[in-house]
Parts: sequence; structure tokens; C-alpha cells
Amino acid sequence: MPIEETDTLVVGAGQAGVAMSEHLTRRAVPHLVLERTRIAERWRSERWDSLVANGPAWHDRFPGMEFTDVAPDGFATKDMVADYLVAYAKKFDAPIRCGVEVTSARRNVGRPGFRVETSDGVIEARNIVSATGAFQRPVIPPLVPAGSDVPQMHSTAYRNPEQLPEGGTLVIGAGSSGVQIAEELMRAGKRVYLSVGPHDRPPRAYRGRDYCWWLGVLGKWDAPAPAPGTAHVTISVSGARGGHTVDFRRLAAQGMTLLGMAAAFDDGVMRFAPDLAENIARGDANYLSMLDEADEYVIRNGVDLPEEPEARIIDPDPDCLRNPILELNLGQAGVTSIIWATGFTRDYGWLKVDAFDENGEPKHQRGVSTEPGVYFLGLPWQSRRGSSFIWGVWHDARHLADHIATQRAYMDYHSEALRNARDASQDGAAPADDRQTDRRVSPRLAQT
Ligand SMILES: Cc1cc2nc3c(=O)[nH]c(=O)nc-3n(C[C@H](O)[C@H](O)[C@H](O)COP(=O)(O)OP(=O)(O)OC[C@H]3O[C@@H](n4cnc5c(N)ncnc54)[C@H](O)[C@@H]3O)c2cc1C
Repeated sequence: MPIEETDTLVVGAGQAGVAMSEHLTRRAVPHLVLERTRIAERWRSERWDSLVANGPAWHDRFPGMEFTDVAPDGFATKDMVADYLVAYAKKFDAPIRCGVEVTSARRNVGRPGFRVETSDGVIEARNIVSATGAFQRPVIPPLVPAGSDVPQMHSTAYRNPEQLPEGGTLVIGAGSSGVQIAEELMRAGKRVYLSVGPHDRPPRAYRGRDYCWWLGVLGKWDAPAPAPGTAHVTISVSGARGGHTVDFRRLAAQGMTLLGMAAAFDDGVMRFAPDLAENIARGDANYLSMLDEADEYVIRNGVDLPEEPEARIIDPDPDCLRNPILELNLGQAGVTSIIWATGFTRDYGWLKVDAFDENGEPKHQRGVSTEPGVYFLGLPWQSRRGSSFIWGVWHDARHLADHIATQRAYMDYHSEALRNARDASQDGAAPADDRQTDRRVSPRLAQT
């Protein structure tokens, strides 16, 4: 059987793979996208039922198409996001092949390109773009031994309150997933304990503008790297029920018990670090600093936005903050399930190339890896804060497509130079010198 060949193989057809395909199509780079399941599968089947996008529909989208089934200021449901990406791919007839898993990719020896093994045969590709996502493998800290009395699951396995046994739930992690799941369970009538670590909690909206707008005008989406000491700070935002600011004090006033970071588990007792007050105070400081920056922006730029002094009111500390619980006997507290909203790690087991550091992290600059021909897309902070979000990945994909097109032009240069040399020697003339060839080829490089 002849081996299938393509210039650029994109692995994964989430938002990153779709954006990559659009930019490669625009640059006429022959390519193929392989997706092991369906387009945008993670939005379809790996998230809880009621999840909506964290940003409003005018923001959490690609530049070239609007959502049609939700108002611009509304929050698309997870299925709307998946449908949007499917429709987007259809718009430019993206060459996406679903149901094909890439099992390994290795550099060819002594010739360019990669040999890619898939569940549907072998493919040879000049370039590989890993668009397999930053949120691949759920992480559960090894605190509670598997098989313990209390069932535990990662947030990727959570679907809805009915799925859980009768009784209370301990949710560990208060980023956007943890806090939204905890609130949903509390509203469903469950007793909820929420373990809260360091977090930022921007206002959902301020002075009539969504926080996505504020991050944009304040230049924060473009920040190139997390501020020092904030790499492990999660962000707590919610688009649920039309969107609202995450306010841990309000949740506590409604009956949720807040706890510090989960630290240890022994004999049915979970122990928590004495850091709840510090974590909440830090979240408040982040919230208030964004209001300050927004106010400064309004004054400096003379923007006409209504004042909102009530946004600065912070409720009194609830009892669980004043008298933190450092130990919780799960049985006595009636906790019958644990949900770990503790994030994800990467999985590049299939990519067998020299493009990773000693911790297994991709070595790259804006997604262009240290291994020529290998590219990464969708990484957190790939080029900026917005990189792992729907709109941000589109811009990073454009950069990678530019890079790939430029490299193709360099390769054309060589083939053209060789062709000229061959033609000249066949004519019995001396080969064209480099400078002449340079002049002929450089306009094509300049176009890329
Ligand atoms: C709970 C949650 C909520 C989020 N909400 C938002 C939000 O509201 N707004 C926003 O902008 N971002 C949000 N994000 C962040 C980000 O937008 C999503 O995680 C998004 O799914 C990332 O898209 P991606 O294309 O990079 O990766 P993925 O969506 O993970 O897509 C990767 C694809 O690659 C496929 N794949 C993996 N390995 C292989 C292989 N070996 N062979 C073939 N195919 C393979 C997978 O099946 C998958 O379909 C959220 C993330 C999470 C976890």
C-alpha cells in the first residue's frame, strides 16, 4: 500500500486544530487534521451538562464568525460551542478526518519529515502541529487512596447533581470549574464543602462592561507571562445563569462551607491548610485591584461609563472564615462524594521527538518547537494570557501557519536553486550564482 503524504499534519480537532486548519488553508499549505473522536469532542462529552462558556458570545469566538443561537452578551452552552466549531470547520471545508487516533510520530532518519502511525495506517508529513489540548489528562492529587469508602471523581467525570449519591459533597479546587460545580450542587439542595486555594476572581462585569472587555482594554489578555508568583493561581469566573461575579462570602452566606487547601487524608479525616483567610483576602485584593485599574482607565481616557460604587462593598467574613475548619471527618459530616476540580496535565506520549524539557514540557517559542517541523498550539501562555482560550488560539495558529509557510518558501528556494544549477549544467553553462538566485526567490519569501 502506498503511504499517504501531506505537508502538515495537525493532530486534534478542537478549537486549536480548527483554527490551525483555517490559517493553513489561507496560505494554501496542503494539510490534514486527524481527530480521534469528533470535532470539539471535549466540549461535547467531557464537561458537565450545564457548563456554559466563561466569556460572552461576542468574545469567546473566532473573529470570522458569530454565534447565531445566543445573543452576543449571552453565554454559549457547551453544545453551542461544539456546534459553532463544527460549523466553522464546514465554512472553509476543513480537511478533518474524525475517528483516527495518532499513536506515534517520529522524525525520519536521513531525510526530512516525520513518520506518523495512526489507527488508520501510516502517514508521512513534513510538519506536525500538536493541537491535542492543554487540558488532556485529569489530575487528582494522591491524597485519598483509590477504593476508599467515599467515591471520588475528577470534574471531567461530573455531569449533574443527580449523578451523586445522597449526602454532602466535598469539592476540592475553587477555580472556575470547582466553584461552578459547588454552586450547582448547593442549589440542588446538597450540603457542600468547598476547598479554596489561591485564586483571582475578577468582577463578572463592572461599570456596564464584562470583564473580558476590561481585560482587553487594559491589555491583560496580551500579557506574555503570568506575573511573578502567580503561576499556580487559578481564576474563578462563571457564566452560569447569565453570568455573575464569584463571591465566596456570598456562597458561604447561602450555606456553603469554605475550607483551606486540602493537605492530607487519614482514616476518613481530611485535613486542610490554615490558608483560607489568606486565599480569600488575596482573591478580594485581585477583585478590587481590577476595579481600581478600570476606574483609572475611565478617567485617563475620558470614557463615559456609569459609576458603580456598590461593586466595592465586601460582605463581612462568614463564620467558616473566622473559625476555619482544619479537619473534616467525612463520615461524621455526611460527605458521601468528593469531586476534584484540580486541573489537568498534558499528554504527549504519542509525540516521540526531541522537543521536551526534563519535566516533559514542550520546548518552544510561541509554539514553534526546538525540533524543526514540530509545532504546539493551545498551550497556556503560548504567546500571551489569551492563548488557551477560543479567541486567543486563533491568533497563535496564524503565527504558526506563517512560520510553516515561510519554511516552505525556504525549501522552495533550495529546490529552485538546485533546479537552476541542474538546468545550467545541462545547458553546459556555469550554475547561477547565489546572489542571482536570491534575487529571483526573495519576492516569494517576502509574500509569506
Ligand atoms: C471546564 C473547562 C471550561 C472551559 N471554558 C472555556 C471558555 O468558556 N472559554 C474559553 O475560551 N476556553 C475555555 N476553556 C479552555 C479551552 O478553551 C478548552 O479547554 C478547549 O477545549 C481547548 O481547545 P484545544 O483545541 O486546545 O484542545 P481540546 O479541545 O482538548 O482538543 C484537542 C483534541 O485533540 C484530540 N486528540 C488528542 N490526542 C489525540 C491523538 N493522539 N490523535 C488524534 N486526536 C487526538 C482530542 O480528542 C480533542 O478533540 C475551558 C476549559 C475547561 C477544562
